[in-house]
This record gives sequence, structure tokens and C-alpha cells, in this order.
Amino acid sequence: MTGMSKLLEPVFDAVKARNPNEPEFIQATEEILHSLGPVVEAEGGEKYIDVAKAIFEPERVVQFRVSWYDDDGKLHVNRGFRVQMNSAIGPYKGGLRLHPTVNLSILKFLATEQVLKNAVTTLPLGGGKGGSDFNPKGRSEAEIRRFCQAFMGELYRHIGPDTDVPAGDIGVSGREVGYMFGAYKKITNRFQGILTGKGPTFGGSLIRPESTGYGLVFFVRQMYQAKGDTLEGKTVIISGSGNVAQYATEQVNKQGGKVVALSDSKGVLVDEAGITDKKLAEVMDIKNSRRTSLREYMEKFPDAKWTDFSEQYDDEEDKCNPIWQLKCDVALPCATQNELNAAGAQALVDNGVTIVAEGANMPSTPGAIEVLRKAKVAFGPGKASNAGGVATSGLEMAQNSQRMAWTAKKVEEELDGIMTRIHADCVSTSKQYSTDDYVDYPLGANITGFLKVAEAMLAQGLA
Ligand code: GLU
Repeated sequence: MTGMSKLLEPVFDAVKARNPNEPEFIQATEEILHSLGPVVEAEGGEKYIDVAKAIFEPERVVQFRVSWYDDDGKLHVNRGFRVQMNSAIGPYKGGLRLHPTVNLSILKFLATEQVLKNAVTTLPLGGGKGGSDFNPKGRSEAEIRRFCQAFMGELYRHIGPDTDVPAGDIGVSGREVGYMFGAYKKITNRFQGILTGKGPTFGGSLIRPESTGYGLVFFVRQMYQAKGDTLEGKTVIISGSGNVAQYATEQVNKQGGKVVALSDSKGVLVDEAGITDKKLAEVMDIKNSRRTSLREYMEKFPDAKWTDFSEQYDDEEDKCNPIWQLKCDVALPCATQNELNAAGAQALVDNGVTIVAEGANMPSTPGAIEVLRKAKVAFGPGKASNAGGVATSGLEMAQNSQRMAWTAKKVEEELDGIMTRIHADCVSTSKQYSTDDYVDYPLGANITGFLKVAEAMLAQGLA
């Protein structure tokens, strides 16, 4: 990474001082500030320093108690949050994460990424993120439902179709959104587009479940096109096996590529013959039952190999998740933050990777990004390459306002168009602000998103 502009160092110091125990939030802030040097150093760029001072402080953070009873009648108390980060260009928009690691640092990093990502989509969406440290793993259907109802018992006060529109993230998919939507309606007596990712029978958009994974692969298709190549016949590894990974696999198959690996929190599954749509259906069955590991795939497809792992690896270690040691043309980290470290990125480079594009949010550590940049590997940052999910949420909001439901074909075409524009904007902004001929997608995405939000904040008096 190039050094941070001297003009922005005091901004970064202030963010660090205000948020002493929030490493993920500081990591995301630093990555963005690194990109903004050419913006603040250009003539007339001082006004953007004021924006940078304001933009890393959430407009509002709501924290609340969520108490619920398990199937044995025992009381559990969790912590719920909503970080309303920025509403300069539209209502707060971003997912809800249910995972035991959820805390303010993680939600503020996600909300910060979301602000720029949503701006990059070109839709009128502000940025936010929320969730709880509730662990859905191993919980019964009834327990999940009671938790969602309890969570909405407080969240309903803070959201609205023109205020804040949450959606899913890790641990929250159509089922949870449905329970939360039902709870909101019961409490308020209003049928409104207050969540996206709803079921198609009550205002949900077709293609929303597929959209993050599909959008990621549409973005990769553009990255290949910029190199005069296509995904046809390319070997792809995808970490994770949740919603994003599943639909990315489906779309890679559609584009003629071959996915040879997926993973979950317990290990890596390798199937050199390729995870075809038929095999993918088995993966979906296993994952959707939510009780078992991907390892069960092995019972159906004994030629596949399984490697256990249980650790997270950081930039200081020379070890990495074994998935990054596989030979591939394209790597798509679609599991979680900081899953691809410098050693993993080096292993990918040594094995000849051409494209890395993030399906998860901030899955690559700063060390990994540095390794990829040095090796001139095309690198799509999540706030550009995984923006298809929230973009389709924006399309769901548009359908809800119109009281209309678009066809799957129309939504998919819109999504493809949005991913194509995001790619083009990243390339042209990178060309404008970087002296290098390497397309710096993170620089392009950060500057494109920042300038859009910054102009709106300035016009509104930085209020
Ligand atoms: N959680 C997704 C993201 O990280 C989607 C958010 C949304 O649809 O609001 O972008």
C-alpha cells in the first residue's frame, strides 16, 4: 500500500483515538484513507478533509437488549445493534448479521464499507449495518423465530422505508427476514418495505437471493473482458458455502468456468472434477439444513477431498487457510473478514492466479492486498465486486415503492448493468487518479464512492 497522505494522518489519528478497541473498524478506515490522498491533495481538495473528518463517525448507533426463551424455557440475553452510519444520499441501508463475533468494531467496519459500496452502485442508498451476537448455529426453527421477534421488538422503532432499511448478512437469510417482517407488521400494523430480501409473495424481489453471488461473477466477467479474455474454461476456487458462495458457483458454471473448491468453518472441500449444478444442489441441501458441515458432501461424492482447519490466520503467520494453496485462475473469498492473509495471497500468486475478487466484506487482510498489488493481480474489492446484493435490495425498494413486482429477467438485466457500470467507474477513476497502468480497483471504488457521498454531505452543510 502506498503511504497515507500527510493531510489525512491527523484524521486517522483522531479516528484511532476515538475508537481504541476497534481493530476491524480501524483497518477499514485506514484502507479507505490510503486511497484518498490524490483527492485531498488535488487543487480545491481541502474541503474533502472536513468530509473525511466526519464520515468515519456514525450518525447514530443504537444498542439494545434482546431477551428470548429457548425451547427448554431458559432465558437468554443477547446484545442487538444498528449502526446508522451515513444518510447523505439516501436512507440507511445494509444488512443484519447474527454471529457470536458481532460487536461494534465489526459492525462499524461493515457499515463504513456499506456507505461507499452503496454509493458505488449509483442508487440512492445511505449506509448502515446491524445485528447481534446471537449464534443461530444449532438453534431450532422456533428459537430462531422467537429471537427474530424479540430483536424486532426494539429495532422497529429505528427503521422505516424512508429511514433505514435492513436486509440479510451472515446468519440472516429469507427465513429470518420473513420472521422480522412479520414481527414489524404485528407491532406497527403497517405493511411497508422496511426490510429487503423478503419472500417473493410479500414484496421480495426475484433474484435478490442470487444477486450477491451472481453480481460477483458478472464483475469478474468484466475484469476478464478488460484483459480481452473470458471465464470460459477457467478454474475457480470459492471460500465459504453460504448464500454468496452458492450462487457464485452457479453463475461460474453458467459462464463455463469450473469451481473446484468450497469451504466452511470446519474445513475445505476440493472436487477437481468440478462442482457441477447437480453437485451444488447437494451442497445447498447440506447448508440449508444448517445442522451439518460441508464434509457430508463426501458421502455422496467420494472422489472429493476434505482438509480440516479451525484457525484464523493473520498477516504475521506464514500459514494460511489451505484453500488458498490450490492452483486456480480465479479466487473468490466469499466467507468472512480477514480470511485471506498475506501467506494465502502469496500462495495464490505462486500458483499463477489472475483474478481475486471479494464476495465477502473485507475478506483480504492489508498484507494480502499488498501482495496481490505487487504481483499486479487484478483485485476486485468487496465494495465493488459484492455490491450486487445491496444493489438488488435497492431494486426491491424501488419495486415496493411502485407496488410492482418485476420479472426475474428484468432484475437480472438491471443487476448485470449495474455491475458493468461499477466496473467501468472503478477503471476510469483508477485511470484518473493513479499514475500506474495497473487498474487499482480499490482506489477506483473508494474514490468513486467517497466523492459521491462527499458532494452530498457538503451540499447539505456537513450536517
Ligand atoms: N449484507 C449485504 C452486503 O454486505 C447486503 C445488504 C443489503 O442488501 O442491504 O452488502
